[in-house]
Amino acid sequence: MNYRGVIHRYHKYLPVKTESIITLHEGNTPLISAERLRKAIGLTARLYLKFEGMNPTGSFKDRGMTYAVSKAHEDSAKAIICASTGNTSASASAYSAKANIRCVVLIPEGKIAYGKLSQAMVHGSTVIQIKGNFDEALKMVIQLGQHFPIHIVNSVNPYRLHGQKTAAFEICETLGDAPDFHSLPVGNAGNISAYWMGYKEWRQEGHTSKTPCMLGFQAAKAAPLVLGKPIKSPETIASAIRIGNPASWTSAIRAKEESNGTIDKITDAEIVKAYKMVSTLEGIFCEPASAISIAGIIKFNKKNPFKKNQILVCTLTGHGLKDPDVAIKNSPKPFTCKNKLDDLVKILKL
Ligand SMILES: *Cc1c(COP(=O)(O)O)cnc(C)c1O
Repeated sequence: MNYRGVIHRYHKYLPVKTESIITLHEGNTPLISAERLRKAIGLTARLYLKFEGMNPTGSFKDRGMTYAVSKAHEDSAKAIICASTGNTSASASAYSAKANIRCVVLIPEGKIAYGKLSQAMVHGSTVIQIKGNFDEALKMVIQLGQHFPIHIVNSVNPYRLHGQKTAAFEICETLGDAPDFHSLPVGNAGNISAYWMGYKEWRQEGHTSKTPCMLGFQAAKAAPLVLGKPIKSPETIASAIRIGNPASWTSAIRAKEESNGTIDKITDAEIVKAYKMVSTLEGIFCEPASAISIAGIIKFNKKNPFKKNQILVCTLTGHGLKDPDVAIKNSPKPFTCKNKLDDLVKILKL
């Protein structure tokens, strides 16, 4: 049988009735060796990129959404709802269309990337723009869920994190063991919690000899976990992690502490620099938020250089096509040329 997504692949770890499974064949994403990037950073350790932009809706959110929506389907849910900085709404919209369940998404008005807005709209969800930020939208969703029969598919839904842990399983299977370090962006902090759960579970199952040190990174002006208190008006170019009060706060701190890891902050300028490096050196187009995992490695390596033969994995959480505005603003402008060969030769300086 062809590959059919993370629930079929890891059904033992994601229990749900087989006939209730809603899949878009998510997961099974590539783990790509990044030699040019490794050299440019001056790393001696080995560097791999888990490119989650290759999921059906272009982000890792699909791993959790397939499970959350399958469970909602198993419970005969009529409607699901989420607040989103963009990718959760894109994913919820796609999986609910497949499941024939009504989907309502709340997004902060004017604050989500254009590609993600188009995804929320195209699948037939009810899209509601909130005059407020993500944290405020999530609060409304949680309150609504307490009073009405509607399934919340934000990462407060435990099925989301269980689905997302499959990325850690895949990495261990590809490498033959767990990596030494795992770097990723931290927004609502569900993903770092999910990876840590996955790595621990795979270790307990005896599939690996160790668990990695978890390195989580937040944008400098949206870094509540680094500051130790919520932030009222988080700001960053990396809209996917523009979050001031993460729902999975305690489990993220636990992941950091249990793994001897760190959660640090990174400026927008460093994010953009890493974003350009991975696109120009590796041919991988990821979201600004995703590039923070690389910016974080660069910063960490300056203080505590990684050792030769250590293995580092960075998760590139989403696809760059979701946010074309940031790409165009931060790249060289195209040339304009007359339809004359002379002009073209002049521009190319041949
Ligand atoms: C959701 C998201 C994040 C943040 O993940 P959390 O689980 O909220 O910490 C990072 N990058 C992208 C592209 C995302 O969609």
